[in-house]
Amino acid sequence: MAQNPVDAVVDAHRALHAAGQADLIWGHAALRDPDGRGLWTKSAGWGMEEITPERVVLLADDGTVLQGGGRRHIEFHIHAALLRARPDIGATVHTHAEAATAFAALDTPLRPLSHDAVPFLDPDVVRFTRTGDLIATAELGDALAEAIGDTNGCLIPGHGMVTVGADLPAAVMHAALLDRACRIQLQATAAGGPARWSPDGEVADKRRGLWTSTQLGAGYGYLVRSGAAGR
Ligand SMILES: [Zn+2]
Repeated sequence: MAQNPVDAVVDAHRALHAAGQADLIWGHAALRDPDGRGLWTKSAGWGMEEITPERVVLLADDGTVLQGGGRRHIEFHIHAALLRARPDIGATVHTHAEAATAFAALDTPLRPLSHDAVPFLDPDVVRFTRTGDLIATAELGDALAEAIGDTNGCLIPGHGMVTVGADLPAAVMHAALLDRACRIQLQATAAGGPARWSPDGEVADKRRGLWTSTQLGAGYGYLVRSGAAGR
């Protein structure tokens, strides 16, 4: 995706809104600055669907606003810590998505009831349980990054979830997939189940072939178009 960082961050927030990840003005995606200055993300105080190029900021690793209009989100530490800890990723997402937050409260293993859970099961999705409070310090951000390790994301009981990816399409799609996986299991649980899900071998096969960067990009493109159509 040959896009400048500002437009890429606008698209990511439109996509997250289209995926139903918004919590009023909270939740955000971030993109590693290609020139190594820090990270690009949305300004505080705006909903995901309200993000325009003027409402995108470049933050240094310590949260200093280097470029763009507006204030930083308190929880920028999530993105800064993950981008420090994971040279293999280029983008991060933190949201308070409803199904993920509800499912996190159950303390039940996430099962592969559909394709959606597959990127997170090795064998279960990570949960960051140290606090459900705001990730408002670099130290808490580092602890969260340590919990996530080399996985694609985690649930935070009492708070929400975090996902990562090689780029914004992957990080945003991981957020959409994790929330959908949680919603499907909540539905199955409410109906008295689940009683059946993909066995480990099938999950391993799916992990290899299902969510390629091409597939993630295709899903993301749809979410961006959906977000743009709703504006
Ligand atoms: Zn939060």
